[in-house]
Amino acid sequence: MPGPRAQQDHYVALNARVYQSSTNGEAPTFAECMVVKDSIIQHVGAATDHAVATARAAGAHVRDMQGHTVLPGFIDGHLHLLLVGQSLNKVSLDDCRSLDDIRTVIAQYARAHPHVSRIFCRGWMHSMTPAGVDASLLDDLDSRPIFVDTKDLHSTWCNTPGLREACRVMNISSDTPDPAGGNIQRDAAGQPNGVFNESAVFQLMWPFVARVTSVDERKEAIKAAFTAFNAAGYTGMIDMAMDDNIWEPLMELRNSEGAFNNMRVAAYWLMKPEGSLDQVLAQVDRVAALAKQFHADTTPDCRIVGVKVICDGIVDACTASLTEPYSTGQHPDPIWRQEVLDALVARAHTAGLQVALHAIGDSTIRMAIDVLERNTDRSRRPRIEHLELASAHDAARLGKLGITASIQPVHSDPAILRAWPRLIGPQRCERAFAYRDFADGGAPLALGSDAPTAPHQPLPNLYVATTRRSFREPELETVVNAEFALSIGQAVAGATHGSAYSCFADRWTGSLRPGLKADFVVCQVELTPDKLVQGRVMETWFEGKKVYPA
Ligand SMILES: [Zn+2]
Repeated sequence: MPGPRAQQDHYVALNARVYQSSTNGEAPTFAECMVVKDSIIQHVGAATDHAVATARAAGAHVRDMQGHTVLPGFIDGHLHLLLVGQSLNKVSLDDCRSLDDIRTVIAQYARAHPHVSRIFCRGWMHSMTPAGVDASLLDDLDSRPIFVDTKDLHSTWCNTPGLREACRVMNISSDTPDPAGGNIQRDAAGQPNGVFNESAVFQLMWPFVARVTSVDERKEAIKAAFTAFNAAGYTGMIDMAMDDNIWEPLMELRNSEGAFNNMRVAAYWLMKPEGSLDQVLAQVDRVAALAKQFHADTTPDCRIVGVKVICDGIVDACTASLTEPYSTGQHPDPIWRQEVLDALVARAHTAGLQVALHAIGDSTIRMAIDVLERNTDRSRRPRIEHLELASAHDAARLGKLGITASIQPVHSDPAILRAWPRLIGPQRCERAFAYRDFADGGAPLALGSDAPTAPHQPLPNLYVATTRRSFREPELETVVNAEFALSIGQAVAGATHGSAYSCFADRWTGSLRPGLKADFVVCQVELTPDKLVQGRVMETWFEGKKVYPA
């Protein structure tokens, strides 16, 4: 659809290494030349091709790419757009190792920023505070509300002013029951004491933060995320927890610009595990109505493609549902009952929606595959998010059923897996992040970052995927299950074509082929597992127009 952003540009990129994706794991090939006209790739091939001479005769200008690599624009297969934007301004605790470190960083920030009204932090890990936390541990640092997110965003910890504000805005008291699939941490007297876990984060803290930040602040956060993602080489993204708090500023932003001119967004609307079955199905119906309005033909730059269901938690918090208990004795169930999931997925399928199920533990993964097998089919390109501890049997079922394995290699960074052997034992760790199994079984792969729970840059993500080593701590020699490493071809395809395929965007983007949008990245990069991480994104082009550097 030629929109107002369509560029009447006509050019020939010469002396390039234009990446030609292979999805079957074979080594990629390169073309030396690409012709772009009116935002579309016209031709990919050799400089001596007839099409190149024709373009030049018609006045196309020539760009000398100086031998640089041209990759398809990256598409983040799983992220949280508003949270990414907001986190760009949060205090990073990534380098902390202990409670003392955390307190030092927050105190320094507070002193340096006397005018911010609230202090938001990110990057806390439970392993930094093995004795547990509550509000009192932050109370002497500053009188302003302080909110600290875990790296995985599954817990939020606040000081007493922060707790008071959240309780007031969200109407939380000692009588408030824990939401399904989460909890409000309490003291001996039953009073909330400053920590929110799992669905209590998604259902209480996220809406709280959204409510205390204005629509304008949220628009700014989204814009900041687009800019940061362009700089990292992205031209597309898939939001995995869309809701009204994000949709409202996103639409306002879009409408003020006519259409997005630097990023394409596809969204899965987050389902909430609350109320009766009818109320759950009503959530699906509402998304179906929205998707009828915002789809590829009406708003190709920003559309709703399906529903997202968070079926369990995470291993570090012992909330991912496993077939055998954790070493700690914990043995949680999945967040949703299977009957409810069956009905939800069937309803979504009938309405033409795609389904994305978050499943991390082996028990939840099995249930998720069962539910998708019974209630939808490959024509809808269903997907499972994370797949961190899949059995060999279930890994093989993904491909048979046409289920996209939506994986975030940055989550398999050994630097953040230190608690796993203690929590699940070394034997179960051998099944961690079995990406190669998924690929070998024929599952389509979509790579994402799950930002802001992990760094969003694509090259580090590809590095971890192909080396299974740490990007966060490069000196760390640990290799996480080397046999599950992806090839460069699989990883790059997963982060471009695969993410596009996962949401039916492969018809217009994700590869560098004639007829597709000219979404591409100019990189200085050596495409070998060890060297990837030193690569540098030099330019990002969206629909034939340079968006980075802007
Ligand atoms: Zn996520």
